[in-house]
Formats: sequence, C-alpha cells, structure tokens
Amino acid sequence: MKLHGKNIVGGEPVTCSGPTFQHRSPLDLAPLEPPFEEASPTAIHRALEFADACFGEFQSRSQQDRAKFLEAIADQIMRLGDTLLKQAHQESGLPLDRLTGERGRTVGQLRLFASIVREGSWVDARIDPPLPERQPVPRPDLRRMLVPLGPVIVFGASNFPLAFSVAGGDTASAFAAGCPVVVKGHPAHPGTSELVAGAINDAARICGLPLGVFSLIHGGPETGRALVRHPLAKAVGFTGSRAAGLALNQVALSRPEPIPFFGELSSLNPVFLLPESLKERSQQIADGLKGSITLGVGQFCTKPGIVIGIAGPDFTRFASQFKESVEKAASGTMLHQGIAESYLSSLRSMSSIDEVEAFAVSEVNQDSLPGAKGTPVVLKTSARNFIQHRELWEEVFGPYTLLIEADSREEMQKLAQSLSGQLTATIHATTGDIHAFRPLISALQTKAGRIVLNGFPTGVEVSPAMQHGGPFPSTTDSRFTSVGTAAILRWTRPICLQNFPEFLLPDELRDRNPLGIMRQLDGQLTR
Ligand code: NAP
Repeated sequence: MKLHGKNIVGGEPVTCSGPTFQHRSPLDLAPLEPPFEEASPTAIHRALEFADACFGEFQSRSQQDRAKFLEAIADQIMRLGDTLLKQAHQESGLPLDRLTGERGRTVGQLRLFASIVREGSWVDARIDPPLPERQPVPRPDLRRMLVPLGPVIVFGASNFPLAFSVAGGDTASAFAAGCPVVVKGHPAHPGTSELVAGAINDAARICGLPLGVFSLIHGGPETGRALVRHPLAKAVGFTGSRAAGLALNQVALSRPEPIPFFGELSSLNPVFLLPESLKERSQQIADGLKGSITLGVGQFCTKPGIVIGIAGPDFTRFASQFKESVEKAASGTMLHQGIAESYLSSLRSMSSIDEVEAFAVSEVNQDSLPGAKGTPVVLKTSARNFIQHRELWEEVFGPYTLLIEADSREEMQKLAQSLSGQLTATIHATTGDIHAFRPLISALQTKAGRIVLNGFPTGVEVSPAMQHGGPFPSTTDSRFTSVGTAAILRWTRPICLQNFPEFLLPDELRDRNPLGIMRQLDGQLTR
C-alpha cells in the first residue's frame, strides 16, 4: 500500500503546498518515505467545518449505528494486516510482537466501546415524573441524559502509535459518545496514522456515515494550537509531555469560548516497598520492578519513576538484587531520536544534583543497536534530598528510576504527603505492613488515580473500573479517565428536558423505555 503523505479531510486526501516533514526511523535514523505535508490553515478550517456540519447527523444516528461504526473500524484495522504492523515498527522502533499486542488492545477497545454504546445505559438517563398536586408548587416533568459535546480534537501520542493514537482510546470514546473527531497525528508515526485514518474512512463509508466524521491533520506545534483555537472545536484529548499539554491547555482556556482540555501529562508513579514485604520477597520485587521500568524501553506513562524503601538490612539486600537485575537488562530502541536525546539530557541533569549517586547501569553490550538507544539506569538518593530538590520530581521518560532511602517510617510518610498528583501509586506490603502503614495508604489515595497493591503500575487494563487519570500534574482533570469505558464521559454534557411531550423525547427518555436501558426513575434504578 503506497502512502500519499497528505492530510485527510472529510474522507479525501487534500494537497497542501506548504512545508513538508520527514520522520527518521529510530531503528537506523534513515529518513522514511514519503515526506508528509503540513496542513494549511484552509485544510484545518475545512476539517473542522466538515466535523461541525456532520455532527447533527452523527449524534442523531442510533446507538446501534454507532456501535457498528466502531466495530467496522476494528475490522478495517485488522484488514490492514502486516502492512500496518511493519509501518508502525519502522516508524516507532517498537518490536512487532509488542505492536501485535497493541493492535489487539486497539481493536478490543473499539469493540468494548461498541458494546457499551449498544447496551445504551451509559447515557445515565434520569426521569423525575411530574407531581402536579405537590404543594406549595407542583413539580414539572424532568428528564436528563448525557449528550455529545461536538467536534473533538485528539492528539496522537508517540508512545502508543496504535492504542493512543489515530483510532486509540480518545478517538474510540469520542465516536462512542457521538462526537466527530479531528486527529492531529503525531509526527513520529505519520505513515501509521495515514493507514489507520484510511481504515476509519473505509468504516465510515461501509456504515453510510458522513465522511466529515473524521479527519487527520499533520503538522507541528502551531498546527496543534490552530486546531485547539478553532471556534468549531468543542473539546480536546491529549497525551504527551507536561510542557506541550500545559501550552495547549492554555490555548483551550484562553479562547473566546473556552473548551475542556483533557491532558494526560506526566507522573512519577511512586512505588513504596514496606519492610515485611522486602523481608519476604525482595528478589521477586526486584525482578518485577526491573521488568516494569524497562517495559517498552521505559516509555509508558505509568513507569515507576521513584522507588522508596526504609533503610535497613532488607532494603540493602533488595537494593543489591535490583542493581544486579538492572545491570543485566537490555537497552532498547526509543521512539524517536528526540526522545532518546531528551532521555540522555534528563539523566545528565538528574545525576548532577547534590547527593544523587549513579546506582546501576545496564552492562549489556548495546553496540549492535544502531538507532535511538535507551539504556536502563538507576540513580539513588535519600528521602530528605528528594524532598528538598524539586528537580528530582520531573518525569524522566525512558528506562530509569530513582531509588530513595528513607531513614524511618515517618520520613517515608512525609515524602508521600509531599508528593504532587500521580496517575498511580504502588505499595508492596504484607498484611502486617498494611496494618502498620495505614496512614501511608490513606495519604496515597489523596495523591493518585490508581493505587496498586503488590503489583506494578505498567499494564493498564481497558475495562469499566479502570481509572487512568489523577490529580494535577498527572492530568489536567482528575475527575475523568482516558482509559476504560468511563473515558466516554469526557465528551458529553448533561441536558435536562422539562415538560417535553413524549413524541419529542429521545428513545432513552421515553416512558416505555424502548431501548430497555437502565435508568433512574424517580430516584430508583430500573429498566
Ligand atoms: P510532546 O512533545 O508532548 O508532543 C505531543 C504532541 O504535542 C505532538 O503532536 C507535538 O507536536 C505537540 N506539541 C509539542 N509541543 C507543543 C506546543 N508547545 N504547542 C502545541 N503543540 C505542541 O510528546 P512526545 O513528542 O511524544 O515526547 C516528548 C516527551 O513527552 C517525552 O520525552 C516524554 O517526556 C513525554 N511523553 C509523555 C507521555 C505520557 O504518557 N505521559 C507520553 C508520550 C510522551 P510536534 O511533535 O509537532 O511538536
């Protein structure tokens, strides 16, 4: 399948005669064909006009139609077969087996959203029947449900070229809610983006949907800002760096009509190792931690960035087992040269901070890796020093963690209480530890969106109970999640219809409940 390198607006490739960009494969740093055209202001405007024009029709389609669309996208992605996997491998350097798994997650996610849309209860319908005889004032007929916001801008993330990109969780949940989507493709996998965009357009054609329901825009930071600024955009989904996320959030908030910006930015994902757990299974924890830090060459938003234990013989034994495990861990190819360079520069900055020592570096020979390499590294410091130096609180994207030694239980507690918002916090503990460290467990629940007990934070299940989002700065809005079925709520707003006659009501709010969905009727859940 030959790539055209153009923006895709309203289902068709459009020619933009301005600048082009060419991504270099992180595998060998060779430039990849073809060059991709940056979107012109006209293309950006047309994409939003198309999205806005078809919003009414898309949202009025039945939940059944939307479910079929999501399933058709999954089918069309699978039809791309190895072409898609090879393109993503070439552009991201991620191994084919990882990409095969990620494709499974992507289509699984689309099908999961199809199933909740088909079931229909997600609209949270509530009906308060009228009370005409109520004194002193009668109650009117009130019916409330969630409706879609309108065109959504999605920023593809570099670290998941399939599952958090063009047809990833943000797009799947926005379509599920009934919102057209305009994706700003990540420039580190433009060909993968083009292939997936083609799959979405094919699915829209198969389902007889207006093609304006989806557009793919290529370009740099100014293109992203122009999309967020566009008056027809109604919400934004973003995964990436804190700097880019905050810049785009500012654009979203300073528009004449501010819009919600759902940014997943950065997280340290602290791991607390409690004393009895280290006494019982330090080797197992050391190996698991090494696996979690090096998984995907450390390029997961849930990678443990700090590991905290209390000084003593068990912590010392764990530390030496962890060191040995990391020294044997292999380096890997990072997503792009920029990320590899930024990893090295972050390591240099962290190492230069007072009282930070180089603790473990992979000793595996990495000369055979020609491209953008990331080598596993662990630095070490004291809890006192960590609390003092805010520079140590920055996320380092790559196979790195900071091992922190606390003097006492009180110092560990102090560190936990001082932390900023996190996507996850992890505790390794025996039942005895849990009883002895209850205040720590309580403190972490005020800091993170997901608390993991005796596991590792990497590996985020796509399911109804998942929460992938925590207090700032891990995300811009901790009330929502970007993974799991609750992600759909980001793209909706509630509407209340007062005293509407039956024939004007949507099926979800009609008396006889033709969709058979779960609803709150006079405060009671019922079908
Ligand atoms: P990024 O720099 O945040 O870029 C993400 C998207 O935002 C890209 O489309 C980028 O466009 C755009 N962008 C960047 N700066 C912008 C600005 N000032 N205004 C408007 N748009 C802007 O992320 P990345 O390229 O994937 O990786 C860089 C770093 O981000 C990593 O080293 C890591 O620290 C972090 N990251 C974090 C996560 C996470 O899950 N928390 C995931 C991926 C990356 P251009 O590329 O065209 O500039």
